[in-house]
Amino acid sequence: METVAREIRIEGVVQGVGFRPFVFRLAHEYGIKGWVLNSSEGVTIWAEATEERIAAFYEALLANPPKLAMIVRHYQTPRQVQGFDHFFIKHSEAGDRRDVLISPDVSICDDCYREIMDPSDRRYRYPFTNCTNCGPRFTIIMDVPYDRIKTTMRDFPMCPVCQQEFDDPMHRRFHAQPNACPDCGPQVTLRDLEGNVYPGFGHEFFKEGKIIAVKGLGGFHLVCDATRRDAVAALRRRKIREFKPFAVMCRDLDVVKKYCYVSPEEAALLESPAHPIVILDRRRQDDLPPEIAPGIKTLGVMLPYTPLHHLLFDDDLEILIMTSANISDDPLIIDNDEALSKLKGIADYFLMHNRQIYNRCDDSLAAVVNGEVQIYRRARGYVPLPVDLPYDVPVILGCGGELKNTFCMTKGKSAFLSQHLGDINHYGNYQQFLYTIPRFEKMLDVKPEIVAYDLHPDYMATRWAKNQDGMTKIGVQHHHAHMASCMAENLVTEPALGVICDGTGYGLDGAIWGFEFFAGTPAHLERMAHLAYMPLPGEITIKRPTRMSFAYLYELFGDAGLKYAKKYLPTLPEEEQRVLIRQLENRFNTVLTSSAGRLFDGISALLGICTRVQYEGQAAIEMEAIADPEVREIYGFEFNKQVKPYRLGVRGIWEGVLRDLESGTPTAVSAGRFHLTLAVMMEEVLKELREETGLNLVVLSGGVFQNKLLFRLLRERLTGAGFRVIYHRKVPTNDGGISLGQVYIASEVIKENVSCHTGQNYED
Ligand SMILES: [Zn+2]
Ligand SMILES: [Zn+2]
Repeated sequence: METVAREIRIEGVVQGVGFRPFVFRLAHEYGIKGWVLNSSEGVTIWAEATEERIAAFYEALLANPPKLAMIVRHYQTPRQVQGFDHFFIKHSEAGDRRDVLISPDVSICDDCYREIMDPSDRRYRYPFTNCTNCGPRFTIIMDVPYDRIKTTMRDFPMCPVCQQEFDDPMHRRFHAQPNACPDCGPQVTLRDLEGNVYPGFGHEFFKEGKIIAVKGLGGFHLVCDATRRDAVAALRRRKIREFKPFAVMCRDLDVVKKYCYVSPEEAALLESPAHPIVILDRRRQDDLPPEIAPGIKTLGVMLPYTPLHHLLFDDDLEILIMTSANISDDPLIIDNDEALSKLKGIADYFLMHNRQIYNRCDDSLAAVVNGEVQIYRRARGYVPLPVDLPYDVPVILGCGGELKNTFCMTKGKSAFLSQHLGDINHYGNYQQFLYTIPRFEKMLDVKPEIVAYDLHPDYMATRWAKNQDGMTKIGVQHHHAHMASCMAENLVTEPALGVICDGTGYGLDGAIWGFEFFAGTPAHLERMAHLAYMPLPGEITIKRPTRMSFAYLYELFGDAGLKYAKKYLPTLPEEEQRVLIRQLENRFNTVLTSSAGRLFDGISALLGICTRVQYEGQAAIEMEAIADPEVREIYGFEFNKQVKPYRLGVRGIWEGVLRDLESGTPTAVSAGRFHLTLAVMMEEVLKELREETGLNLVVLSGGVFQNKLLFRLLRERLTGAGFRVIYHRKVPTNDGGISLGQVYIASEVIKENVSCHTGQNYED
């Protein structure tokens, strides 16, 4: 058999994930001679053997790469045989490795877990144990290429034993940049506010009902025993967070199953390398204190993702509250001194360590809907992995929205979304937005010359974008961005219909949009229909759904509406009602809105489910929680085709809900009917639009589609009606995903050299 030579190039996440040792072992197995090398684009392999052996080796390489590797592209090229007599790992070429993708943080692997639980292992109970298959990545990386010296592990020179592991190509820790052991790595300290230091991981304090601030991977958590009502209530009181649900961490999957229903897909998501918080349905009698998640039937649950987290548990501690440690909506605390000063009224003890967190990163939040993963907050474990685009695009920065901000930077066919940055109207979050952009530029070695932004003139990101000198600026309507985001992640380039159910977004006519039907391609979306406008009496109404309810009642029913308001909105003071009437009559300090979120708010308040909103979407979430999903009857609605865009009137819905209230129909039934009515209404509109446009592809996006019931009902109906339906699985359906849509629209605008229908397109 003749010996041939091939040069094989592999691109993607292939460095720092044990790829070379894997190639090394495989080469031995298949009798391949040559070498493997970390190169500027990824990994290069020189393989000499018979044609058949190389083919088998190549196949094995692609079929079964290390768990954390992500192969994006691969090539092989015939070369001249050089006659190597063995296979070896070649030293890296000089030069940058900036095309190599940086890995997100990865939850602890089984091998490392075994080591920290094994009393005879030198890493027994060592909280910073990691290897090439697991451990910190994005949160500790300060610069590329990804070498220890450019991470926050540079402060910890390896001991000789760790160094040996690091240098051994056959070892699991070969070139594991954050490699550490008790002798040379970071250490934890458990202390109180006075500076008294205690041994261990705080088990006895948890059992006394104390609250401990724990420094984790991407920031601090506030932690207490979730089974102790006194501790949970104290945490809620001290954090001044009356309703927003707390996430929990369970010792293992069996404990999760004790408290929640867990499908195989949900178990897989809980145990996936990202280890996100997964929203699960609670078992009815779970004995957990009601303070954990007031008013809702779900629980946000995660499994321990670092060695330190595993060590927080023992035989008696099985479920801990793990809520992010921040003050109101400010960024997650990452710094020891900041934790001591800002959390002193909240935490009793501090479990801290001396490894710096460089990139702040919240826990990701996800759910399984219809057997598929949906991500509601994309951060730790997912960032900075890119989302593939349908084609190569110029370097564009999409600077995102205001709440749940992320930005998005493109390079080639890849779109890199930042970690969730939160509400950037808050000073701290805005600062993070400002310094994270250059970090991504450095990490990706790009300098965007095009910036896409939301049309809302008051958004911080919009103001920032407009102030950038020398960049091409492309304004993108908020809900166009939602639709384009979903098209981008589904690699859709053809025209489509879309329905966007959302809270708030600045419309092209200056109204607040939020229940919109579009048709077209990303840069050419036409508004085909929308919810009939309703005056929104002041910004405060978003926090006070009774005001929205009042506006609907008064606008739809006049004086009769006032009687209903008196009867069903008892928490809305009479004086405020009088002011509201004047406000609505004179259209003073009101703005027109077609928001689906506000419709949910209004109905939720009328039904007495939620009258005060403390976190975004609360009224809708609580209504979904009590809605009876088996309901079959719907309310009326009006589909007005006399005007363009078409209008959807909801008078019938309000009449129906009032009828239910008068007749004493259970709230669960009314809430169920409301959900079903919306699904039927959307189906009817989309069928009409299909008739008119011939388009059969439907895009679902917008924050309201986090409502699993509404999503399920609608998707079922649309699929049943023969539509092809696409929705979000890689980026959030809420405003955390719009930065992707912004860059997609901007790329189409640039490509087609059109002036953007969606907003303004102008050069500086
Ligand atoms: Zn490991
Ligand atoms: Zn060591």
